Amino acid sequence: MTPYYFGLINRDDPKDPLRRMVIPLPAEQEVLPGERQDPLGEEERTRVPGLVHRYPDRVLLLAAGECPVYCRYCTRGRIVGQRDAPRPNRRRWQDAVDYIADHTEVHDVLISGGDPLILGDAKLEWLVAALREIPHIDIIRIGSKVPFVLPMRITPDLCRRLQPCQPLYFSLHVNHPNEITAAACDACELLADHGFVLGSQTVLLQGINDDADTLRRLFRELLCIRVRPYYLLQCDPITGSGHFRVPVDRGLEIMRQLRGTISGYGIPQYILDIPGGAGKVPLSPDYIEGRTSKDLLLRDIHGNSGFSYPLR
Ligand SMILES: *Cc1c(COP(=O)(O)O)cnc(C)c1O
Repeated sequence: MTPYYFGLINRDDPKDPLRRMVIPLPAEQEVLPGERQDPLGEEERTRVPGLVHRYPDRVLLLAAGECPVYCRYCTRGRIVGQRDAPRPNRRRWQDAVDYIADHTEVHDVLISGGDPLILGDAKLEWLVAALREIPHIDIIRIGSKVPFVLPMRITPDLCRRLQPCQPLYFSLHVNHPNEITAAACDACELLADHGFVLGSQTVLLQGINDDADTLRRLFRELLCIRVRPYYLLQCDPITGSGHFRVPVDRGLEIMRQLRGTISGYGIPQYILDIPGGAGKVPLSPDYIEGRTSKDLLLRDIHGNSGFSYPLR
């Protein structure tokens, strides 16, 4: 991890939430049924090295093979930080760019990895600019945890270089209010001031953020730094992740507790990525209780039933 992130951890607290995300525990050795190294079947859907094409209109480009901080629940731990990780080299990127240019049905490129923001300014600018030249690409997204683990990497110069490539979105990985420091605020502010659209991705993690109060605090703080909560992700069943995973019913209960107690802008979609690679699906508490021939039967956010809305 970065010295910066290490400094955020309370060394006297074995349950410190940031510590649990990055320091290995013996529990990782325990492999539970259904766990896999590549739960999302990304390898099967890799078209050219480092390019995953799972949805018709979007691709995932693994630009770098390394991260500033290695999360223990990483869904791509099989490659990221490993010897055969995708290398950040232009020849490989060019193959990916050519593939995307040939596939006119692709409108959205998600650059992830490895964390793309550990690349040097010039390299990153080259890649983003090459993608921006493709006429059928609408948005480019950068998936990153850098504002929360290495915030000083977000510099005015980096922002200026990327600005001509708008519309550029950032999907920022953040899981706990302790990650939102003054430095992280400055980094997000710089990105937002340059007009980039900022969204968050939060992994629901046992003992770290699996309660409505912690998440409400996180999402409110994100709203204040102009990061719109985008996804709350059910932890993928990667090998050795059992101690991190929260039962889906608990996740649904947390979503139920958030609704009505925070601005709607502060409520992300709760997402499960179906093992095997069928894609992401939203999970939601059910507010529809049933139907009659005339009415939709509803319950309110407090769980009171007996409400209805005319079906037509
Ligand atoms: C998550 C993901 C995307 C992006 O999905 P959105 O729901 O549009 O955010 C694209 N490609 C792959 C392979 C993914 O895993």
